[in-house]
Formats: sequence, structure tokens, C-alpha cells
Amino acid sequence: MQKKRPTKSKQQPTSVVTGAAGFLGSHLTDLLLSRGHKVIGIDNFITGAVDNIAHLGGNQNFRFIQQDVTEFIFIDVPVDYVWHLASPASPIDYLEIPIKTLKVGSLGTHKALGLAKNKGARFLMASTSEVYGDPLVHPQTEEYWGNVSTIGPRGCYDESKRFAEALVMGYHREHKLETRIIRIFNTYGPRMRINDGRVVPAFVSQALKNKPITVFGDGKQTRAFCYYADLIEGMYRLMMGNYDLPVNIGNPHEMTMLQFAQEIIQATGSKSKIVHKPLPQDDPKQRRPDITKAKKLLKWEPKVPLKEGLIQTIEYFRTKVG
Ligand code: NAD
Ligand code: UDP
Repeated sequence: MQKKRPTKSKQQPTSVVTGAAGFLGSHLTDLLLSRGHKVIGIDNFITGAVDNIAHLGGNQNFRFIQQDVTEFIFIDVPVDYVWHLASPASPIDYLEIPIKTLKVGSLGTHKALGLAKNKGARFLMASTSEVYGDPLVHPQTEEYWGNVSTIGPRGCYDESKRFAEALVMGYHREHKLETRIIRIFNTYGPRMRINDGRVVPAFVSQALKNKPITVFGDGKQTRAFCYYADLIEGMYRLMMGNYDLPVNIGNPHEMTMLQFAQEIIQATGSKSKIVHKPLPQDDPKQRRPDITKAKKLLKWEPKVPLKEGLIQTIEYFRTKVG
């Protein structure tokens, strides 16, 4: 199943990772380096952090370019793989910068695809479960077309990713580019920004400070959380495989946000109490990936149980809370 393409350099494949200073991009970079790739990371730090890649300083196989990927991307060496992860990913980020979010999903994906086409490289786009919107089909299969409000506050993110998927398929069909689309479901772990507003950093930092845990709405909305190491392995397998339609990667272990808050209180041994805050507009009521395709095509399924992933994540956030 794992179809590796012949590498241009013969010995060592070269990967370009956009969004390399982000949570997932930096972990992907580490995995690629550990598997013998040369990595050229690109990021403009809009939601990423230099700390996420600081440990790579001096690594001969890693090069970093600070730039906005909505501008022309110039790389002066052959490239085998382009991994396009650049995009704000947290609701509070993309609510604050909707235009930049739309631009990176459209213009940024166009530039990254142009780079892959120019280099004859294989291309992977980081899509999202948000393409399913507030889903009317549960769990979500790749065949479901979604239920998204174009004009709601999340539209800037959801529609930019839906446009990006369409653009990827355009390059695949018209230019015969080798392409992959990964639909990532909620993923967590070390290197998430503590104040990025996503539920894992929010609940863990509140619990570590014994502050109230802010459950939005009645807390009956569901999500399913995947540990980053599982996700990145799935992403790698998808790129190296030969399937060119979207594949869901996530952990199907679904729970309500109230259950999740209790889980975090227990895992941190916190004295925090739960408080309710208004539910953000268009917050999806339920989400769980159907991962039948990933299991069959990639021989992939998540291995890290929530309790184990949370231990690592909580350790990381302990070093970050003031
Ligand atoms: P992140 O915010 O930590 O990382 C995104 C990175 O992209 C940041 O380092 C940011 O500075 C960079 N970036 C944004 N716009 C850019 C631009 N115009 N030019 C250059 N760099 C730019 O988020 P993440 O959680 O690591 O998400 C990575 C990718 O995975 C995103 O495409 C996101 O949509 C997707 N995704 C993540 C999740 C998740 O649960 N973490 C879920 C679904 C999809
Ligand atoms: N959420 C919450 N309290 C918070 C942050 C988020 O109850 O402090 C909820 C949010 O309303 C959503 C779920 O947790 O139902 C996951 O939110 P997140 O922002 O992590 O990502 P989403 O899956 O909505 O993109």
C-alpha cells in the first residue's frame, strides 16, 4: 500500500511544509526529519511560534523560510513533497482574521499547488472536518457534502477549506498533479498555543490554574479528540499511499464537552468548577469521524487513548501556565 515515489535527489527526499511553525506543522516536520527527509519549512508566524521549531536550529536537514504563502513561493532546489498546512485553525483566530484566513485557503493553496506543479512534487492539503459544517449525517463519512453557512462567522474558514479542496481537485484533474486531501478532525497535544481558544488548551489551562472551566452552551455538543502523534502518522501514510480523494483522519472516541470538562478536571486533579458561557454561533452540535476509509486504505487507526494523550498535553501546558 505504501507507494513511495522515486526521489529526485536519489538518496534523500525533500519536503516543503507550509505552516511549519504551527502545532501540527512542527510535529510533521519532526516526523519527516526522523524518516530521512530534508525539510524546508515555511511560516509567517501569524498563529505559529518560533518556539515550536527552535529545537531544529543547527539541523543540517532543516531550512526555514519566513514568508506569507499567499505570495509567490520560490524554492531553489528539487522538491518531492509539498505538505500544505498553513492556515489559522482555531475559531478565535479565524474570527479575528477572516480575510487572511480566506486568503491563505485560496491564494495560499494556489501558490503551494503552483510550487508542487513547477517541481513535479506530490501535494497534500490539510483540510478539516469543518467542511461538513454542522453535520446532518453522523458520524461523518467522506461522501457527506456538508452543511455550512457561507455567511456565518465560521464561513471564512469552512469555505476557504472547501474552495481549497476544489482547487486541489482542479490541479489533479487538469494538470494531473498527484494530490492528497486529509480531513483532520479535532487534534490536540503539546505545542498548541495556550491561548488559542480551542477547547483543549482552554480547559487544561483553566484547570491548572483552578479557574472556572468555561463550557459553552449546555455542553451537550460532541467532539472526538485525536492525539497529534496518531494524526501525523495518518497524514504521512496518506501522502505515501496512492489514494487521491479526501480521507478522514481523527479519533472516533466521541464525548460531550461536559464529559470532556470532567475528564480534564480529573486528569489535572483540579479544584475548578464548571461554568456555562454562551454557545458561539454555528458551533457544530455533533462531530465524529467515520474512519473506515483510513483503516482500509492506510491500515491506520488511532492508538493513543485520551487519558494517555492528556498526560503528555497537561505536562506541556504546566510549563506554559503563568
Ligand atoms: P496552527 O495555527 O498551530 O498552525 C498553522 C500555521 O500556519 C501557523 O504556524 C501559522 O503561522 C501558519 N500560517 C497561517 N497563515 C499563513 C500564511 N499566510 N503564510 C505562512 N504561514 C501561515 O494550527 P494547526 O492546528 O497546526 O493546524 C494546521 C493545519 O491543520 C491547518 O491547515 C488547519 O486548518 C488544519 N486542521 C487542524 C486541526 C486541529 O485540530 N489541529 C483540525 C482540522 C484541520
Ligand atoms: N468550547 C467550550 N469551551 C471553551 C472552548 C470551546 O465549551 O472554552 C467548545 C466549543 O463550543 C465547541 C468545542 O468546545 O463545541 C470544541 O471547540 P474548539 O474551539 O476546540 O474547536 P471546534 O471543534 O469547534 O472547531
